[in-house]
Amino acid sequence: MELDFCPVCGTKLYKRYLEHEGEIPYCESCGDFRFPIFSTAVSMITLSPDRSKMLFLKQYGNNFFVLPAGYVNKGESAEQAVKREIAEELGVSVKEFWFNRSGYFEKSQTLILNFTAVLESEELNTNYEVDSFGWFSPDEAVLNIKPNSLASQFVKSFIDNNEVIK
Ligand SMILES: [Zn+2]
Repeated sequence: MELDFCPVCGTKLYKRYLEHEGEIPYCESCGDFRFPIFSTAVSMITLSPDRSKMLFLKQYGNNFFVLPAGYVNKGESAEQAVKREIAEELGVSVKEFWFNRSGYFEKSQTLILNFTAVLESEELNTNYEVDSFGWFSPDEAVLNIKPNSLASQFVKSFIDNNEVIK
């Protein structure tokens, strides 16, 4: 979403032409262009060590399964965030992981980078955010992930590409 006010000084922004970019909001007080600001998060299609099952979580207060996910910290890479979030939420380390695709979550102005992460172990030590979790075969996975969500799009395209069992 385009900015109306300067995030640094609060001055109202006006569009100014910038070569190769077009009309971009500009702060006359700072003398600088202000590009869109949004958050970045990672979400993980989390596989058992043998890659046969997928792990979904329920967070407290929610009655549906979602993917393990979290915001990328300032100064952190997306790759670091994948490993940190899984270590924090699930208490397990990642054997290998790779990027799948991304999607924009309008409600929280967040770009979500979806990865596949293969866990070192099925023995989890989940943290306070996690109410419960379940392991799902590909067939069960599409029926159990939160409907009409970005997570369900990620899971469906992952399964359609036959990436679960290698
Ligand atoms: Zn400014």
